[in-house]
Amino acid sequence: MTTPWNDRFSHRMARVRASEIRELLKLLDQPDIISFAGGIPDPALFPAGRIASTYAEVLAEAAPQALQYSVSEGLPELRRWIAARMTAAGAPCDEGNILITAGSQQALDLIGKLFLSPGDTVLAERPTYLGALGAFNAYEPSYADLAQPPPAWTKLAYIVPDFANPSGRTLTRAERTALLDMAHERDVVVIEDAAYRDLRFAGGAEPSILALDIARTGSIEDARTLYCGTFSKTLSPALRLGWVCAPRAVIDKLVLLKQGGDLHVSTINQMVAARVVAEGWDSHLERLRAAGRERAAAMQTALARHMPMGVTWTRPQGGMFVWVELPHGFDGAALLEAALAEERVAFVPGAPFFAVEPDAATLRLSYSLPPPDAIDEGIRRLARAIDARMAH
Ligand code: PMP
Repeated sequence: MTTPWNDRFSHRMARVRASEIRELLKLLDQPDIISFAGGIPDPALFPAGRIASTYAEVLAEAAPQALQYSVSEGLPELRRWIAARMTAAGAPCDEGNILITAGSQQALDLIGKLFLSPGDTVLAERPTYLGALGAFNAYEPSYADLAQPPPAWTKLAYIVPDFANPSGRTLTRAERTALLDMAHERDVVVIEDAAYRDLRFAGGAEPSILALDIARTGSIEDARTLYCGTFSKTLSPALRLGWVCAPRAVIDKLVLLKQGGDLHVSTINQMVAARVVAEGWDSHLERLRAAGRERAAAMQTALARHMPMGVTWTRPQGGMFVWVELPHGFDGAALLEAALAEERVAFVPGAPFFAVEPDAATLRLSYSLPPPDAIDEGIRRLARAIDARMAH
């Protein structure tokens, strides 16, 4: 007799599910498919040589420290560097306001664990980052639309204000201020997911929500914004290095939760990152932005050239995503099946990015991997698959 595991799992597991997308994306490794599906950095842009020599250097100079346990808060040098960058970008803080996490994904999980009791409300954009819903779901919240007046018991507002995953949209200054007005008035904590913030390739930077919050309250200790940063999109996602910048009272509790979860982020990875970012970081970011600028332009040109009337899309100023809205009645998941079978082109259907009331007539395109000529060909194929299903 097999054990009835489902009867033994905790209540919170009722909300934890495998994503259908993940299953679909496993099929995409075939070479003749042009994929706009994976939202991952281009490996050609990893500073691999620099990382290799820095590992060697750290091991030669400081192996006993690099291979040892370290404090849960994270490496002081790295936290000081991050605090200095945050301060220079208009959010004055010090290393006591920084916790190093295993990517920003862990930050979202720890924040959910710290703030959410079952039934609390999380406000999220429509659409929002699927991985944030995955992190919060285990803490059994309800979700509501961030664009609507917040319901009672609203604890958290989760937002990706710069070149969002999946929408590619950026909040204006006025929208940032309005969000803070609501948060202060309704006693809501804001989670600012800044995963793509360093990847702006067009337009002028808006201040981070945390910076605006500190400007309003006078000190990070009085702010109610928890800023989640990451080195995944700029250095390498495999190092698993992210951070939270927040009031000390919040950092202190997150440190306790991190201790209980995994003790600390890899010491050697933190030491390597601290050395790599200390030199030439801005010119490295400029290279990433130039690559994003070129590919985003190729995708905009291809969309304008090939897409049938009735299809609309966003024009991101950074990051790696374009959000496409199809005419009413389209189903992104059905379109993906057809596009894969008939045209050998892939993307991510939009519905799973909605916390509530999914809009199935949407899809997410990433331009981070294919070269510009493949972008044009892939969009031509996708447009053909859409056109074949349009009512003419
Ligand atoms: N937030 C957003 C908006 C993301 O797109 C991602 C990565 N896809 C993450 C957080 C998590 O990234 P990491 O844990 O590698 O920092």
